[in-house]
Amino acid sequence: MKAHSMPAAASNSRVTTQIIQEPYAIVHPDKARMFQRHHPWVFAGAIESVRGRVTDGDLITLCTSDREFLARGFWNRHSQIRVRALTWEPQTVIDDQWWIDRIDRAIGARASILADGQTDACRLIASENDGLPGLTVDRYGDWLVLQAGAVGIETRKELIVKALIERLHPRGIFERSDDSEMRHKEGLPIAVGVLYGEPPPALIPITENGLHFLVDIVHGHKTGFYLDQRETRALYRRWLTAESDHGKRPLTVLNCFSYTGGFAAYGLSGGATRVINIDSSEEALDIARQTMALNGFKVEEDDFREEDVFRALRRFRDLGQQFDAIVLDPPKFAQTQAQVDGACRGYKDINWLAFRLLRPGGLLLTCSCSGAIDTDLFQKVVFGALVDAKREAQILARLGPGPDHPIALTFPEGAYLKGLLCRVW
Ligand code: SAH
Repeated sequence: MKAHSMPAAASNSRVTTQIIQEPYAIVHPDKARMFQRHHPWVFAGAIESVRGRVTDGDLITLCTSDREFLARGFWNRHSQIRVRALTWEPQTVIDDQWWIDRIDRAIGARASILADGQTDACRLIASENDGLPGLTVDRYGDWLVLQAGAVGIETRKELIVKALIERLHPRGIFERSDDSEMRHKEGLPIAVGVLYGEPPPALIPITENGLHFLVDIVHGHKTGFYLDQRETRALYRRWLTAESDHGKRPLTVLNCFSYTGGFAAYGLSGGATRVINIDSSEEALDIARQTMALNGFKVEEDDFREEDVFRALRRFRDLGQQFDAIVLDPPKFAQTQAQVDGACRGYKDINWLAFRLLRPGGLLLTCSCSGAIDTDLFQKVVFGALVDAKREAQILARLGPGPDHPIALTFPEGAYLKGLLCRVW
């Protein structure tokens, strides 16, 4: 993608001789070095003073007290993240074309995911990880869902929506900026509704790796579906296909935190004889039931249970029930750093129970989407659960989000989703 930059003569000039134009913010001397890391978040505490007039969402230059250029991004006086940096290159001009180029870059990078015609839903723009802080855009068949998590995105929504229409010709674009905490931190009200085109149907049919799913983009979790687990679901299907010898060997799977049946459909298409789904949401289980029918899988009413997973696992333990495979894909247990200890206890508890419920040689797929718990800590928790359960296990695969949820190397917060596939003895 073409960079939108000044002519070569200007780019040759020394950064220190750049004339920094207002508005600009002077960064505390002891914070200036941090900009070498190119992390997009600049916290309020890093800023010493501001010169010139700047309103929320406007571009602002960050510089040292010697007026040396550090970065440029958009400003929000309401947020602790006072500036979200967009560039660390003084020559880069952030105009409408810059935004359009970034959107094109993100959409273009998803081509391989959609190329084989087996998948028509994926994340198209992954916020900071695509160099567009605060902007999430997901595709579900002919519909797009947009989330604006920063005021600088809110003020450019019209430009962004126009670019999406011109490039993707969707039937509709629906806004799900309903993360009230995130919007409140940005000083923005919740925004939900049609941004363009037709209102979405109650359930949008999508295809993922050849399987059919139904997505409620208006009320569903996140933007409607856990797109970030696509690759993990596909890998899990490959393992079950081998374990069941293409359906010749009976295999019973326990799918904990099933939501609308993502892992259930992949499990049954991988040859599992039966998948028992546990979720606390009746609405999600109802969609899961419809999804299995849509794919032509024969299921029983009892395979969809509205129950607390912690309780269900104990019940199975007390009944002495054993499973060939168990999926643990819980919601985010730790919302903040302060919740990490409690969350680890929760992860340990469900993993401990799952280890006990697996027959020797069975498979455990265990995940965490808590950003505050990193890969190492999660593995330690699973290890602790294993030792307490008095079982043995091997890691067969380390899991993470698919390539439509890339992780910018400068943004470790992008690595929220992790998982392990284990063989348990
Ligand atoms: N595996 C799913 C996504 C799981 S999201 C997929 O691939 O699509 C987490 C799910 O856990 C949600 O559906 C939520 O309703 C459910 N949930 C949260 N807490 C729960 C609990 N204590 N017991 C059962 N389900 C729970």
